[in-house]
Amino acid sequence: MQNIRQICPEGAQWLDQHDLEMWTFHKDGGHRWGIAITNSSESINNVYRECRALPISAIVEMTFWKTNGWFVNRLHWCEKREAQGNIHSDYATKIMEKDNRKSSRHTVTVMNRNAGEYSVETRHWEDGRRGGHRHEVTVNFRTKKGACSCQKYQGRGIPCSHAMAVIKHRSKDPRHFVSSFFNIDSQKSSYCTSFRALPDEAYWPVYEGMVIIPPIGLRQETGRPRVKRIPNEMDQSGRPPRGPRRCSICKLPGHDKRKCPGPIGPQNAGPDVVNPDNGA
Ligand SMILES: [Zn+2]
Ligand SMILES: [Zn+2]
Repeated sequence: MQNIRQICPEGAQWLDQHDLEMWTFHKDGGHRWGIAITNSSESINNVYRECRALPISAIVEMTFWKTNGWFVNRLHWCEKREAQGNIHSDYATKIMEKDNRKSSRHTVTVMNRNAGEYSVETRHWEDGRRGGHRHEVTVNFRTKKGACSCQKYQGRGIPCSHAMAVIKHRSKDPRHFVSSFFNIDSQKSSYCTSFRALPDEAYWPVYEGMVIIPPIGLRQETGRPRVKRIPNEMDQSGRPPRGPRRCSICKLPGHDKRKCPGPIGPQNAGPDVVNPDNGA
């Protein structure tokens, strides 16, 4: 919070007016924890921005095949990681590798061994700006759960570097203290649903519902459209649709000036008479 205040005092002031549970991860009571698909829905939103001009049926079809592809690929990827001997998701493994490196720089002091209470001191960094803090860590070695005053362990379900230092101090494997949510099995079960293959339209059951007709104004006029752009509500002007084409000479519909029989008269009895090469 102090960093935010330094970078942007107005932003910090605005945040002060809102409860911590509204904008921090560690105070939200675990509401947003364990939601594994938010990133997927965000990225699919991004995909739709590219194709929102397509007809609905094309978007639905694209969603189906794309999602199916993602599920198949990710399940395969999880199985590959599992075969390589990983027990946690890529995300958790990366965090643990980083915090494991950090934890070797911490000093652990036992406060109450039976209650699993420890004090962890972080060493000052070379730049002198970071480190030099003290954290209270509680680890239950029976339930393999813990908490730290830095709030990271509680917030993400993966031991922070301080808790890791404690776990290693007791010669235990920090990987066993990670929430089961990050197990490769849990990740696999997110993607194990299979989609049913779509049969050809000829095999679909007969549709017996309402018939929906598009609005008349959005129907395409006869002939080649003058613009390639897909019309939207801005294209619906108050102008009535154009009537049939009329001849520019006699103003009658049904033909144009090249085929105009002309005003009825002896000198203009029609193209067939004036020009016998017409081959009519
Ligand atoms: Zn911590
Ligand atoms: Zn005419």
